[in-house]
Amino acid sequence: TTAVVLFTSDLRLHDHPPLCAALARHDRIVPLFVRDRGIADAGFDVPNRRAFLADCLADLDDGLHARGGHLVVRSGDVVEEVCEVAREADAAEVHMAAGVSGYARTREERLGVALGERGLGLAVHDAVVTAVPPGAVVPTGSAGADHFAVFTPYARRWAQESLRSPLHAPRSVTVPDGVRTEEVPARDEVAGVSPALARGGEKTGRRRMNAWLRGPVGAYEDQHDDLAGDSTSRLSPHLHFGTLSAAEVVHRARRVGGAGADAFVRQVCWRDFHHQVLAARPAAADHNYRDKGDSWRTEEEAGCEVEAWRSGLTGYPVVDAAMRQLRHEGWMHNRGRLLTASFLAKTLYVDWRVGARHFLDLLVDGDVANNQLNWQWVAGTGNDTRPNRVLNPVRQALRYDPGGSYVRRWVPELAGLEGAAVHEPWKLPARERATYDYPEPIVALDDGLARFRQARGLA
Ligand code: FAD
Repeated sequence: TTAVVLFTSDLRLHDHPPLCAALARHDRIVPLFVRDRGIADAGFDVPNRRAFLADCLADLDDGLHARGGHLVVRSGDVVEEVCEVAREADAAEVHMAAGVSGYARTREERLGVALGERGLGLAVHDAVVTAVPPGAVVPTGSAGADHFAVFTPYARRWAQESLRSPLHAPRSVTVPDGVRTEEVPARDEVAGVSPALARGGEKTGRRRMNAWLRGPVGAYEDQHDDLAGDSTSRLSPHLHFGTLSAAEVVHRARRVGGAGADAFVRQVCWRDFHHQVLAARPAAADHNYRDKGDSWRTEEEAGCEVEAWRSGLTGYPVVDAAMRQLRHEGWMHNRGRLLTASFLAKTLYVDWRVGARHFLDLLVDGDVANNQLNWQWVAGTGNDTRPNRVLNPVRQALRYDPGGSYVRRWVPELAGLEGAAVHEPWKLPARERATYDYPEPIVALDDGLARFRQARGLA
């Protein structure tokens, strides 16, 4: 018998429950990836992620070839393509990972109905995209609560969940003849990719995870916020595309143990946390999770300032450095994400959705759950228990880039300024200031803070 395994955000062979289940029940499988028109229509198919995805698909295809099979790639409406592939392969059922976003859940429902009409089964597997499935831990005692709105109690409960031991990659895969496939897309066919975009694929992801857990994770607790040190795992694109399994990453990090690994596992828990919020409140992708009565400035109202923010020309060196890192690498340090988002949403008081969209246009790890809900967290409309805190970019810079190296790396116009002086070029004597081709601040921090406090009724 034959089954189709539909790959979505789980582009790997290790620790893959749908693949293992399909292989246990059937002698042939069709490993299928659909370049889903719906994702492109929703504006999510942007160059950086398309290029990384191409690497992932090429690597998945290689891994399947090494086991006697190959990847089947199709384009179009995901439901129509899955049904057509199932027909071509004479498959009895389809296996896939449970999705989290509203889009993914609708996709599952549509697939279930369409396959059911053809007498075929759909098996949807939990804990493939997240370590702990959304909904597996819910608050006890609060009547009707379907998710945790606050991280700390969630993390406490999450830590008590037992995870499966990581599943082995299959030894061999037999794909039936007669299933049409397109060429696996190539990374170099994608235009407009960030110059220093990371490589995708399961092999690269596993090498990075192994190297990370062998050493650097030990220093994570102390160094994760050091902008210049770049001492985080950079596993986020692999977790986003599922070239690494979150459950396996947690399992392996726990085996390493120690304060660094514990702090790192806590961050992966943040990922599950945001996924369980989105699963319970799919509308939070576009709407305030909590309404704070904001009347945000729109992009039209704050046009030049938004453009300066996007281009890394706000006149606040640490903000500009982080925004330029985003454009150059398709990735930004978490501390950079926090302070640039706070600058847009609170200091400029621009609608968080404007910033979230720009991040999604460029981030290789751009993810509805993590991006939209972190933006809401920073904007104070989400799950932060201190929704009115505003990050001062100068204080952030002095604390997390005390030597100024991060700024000098990304803002070469200021490379001649030594030490922390690079964070406040406006303090230079006028004649020296004039030698630096770098803008004046687009807004005074005090004015930004006053506007925000007024808007929130705190003034
Ligand atoms: P590490 O510090 O090594 O952490 C390990 C893993 O934990 C990460 O790979 C990630 O999967 C998870 N993680 C860490 N911090 C968070 C967090 N705050 N929320 C959720 N998961 C977390 N992360 C994304 O994966 N996609 C996004 O689109 C995204 N957008 C963001 C937007 C804003 C405004 C902010 C403040 C944060 C955003 N994050 C996003 C979270 C975080 O910044 C990145 O996950 C992290 O910087 C990735 O780098 P890393 O893999 O080296 O992280």
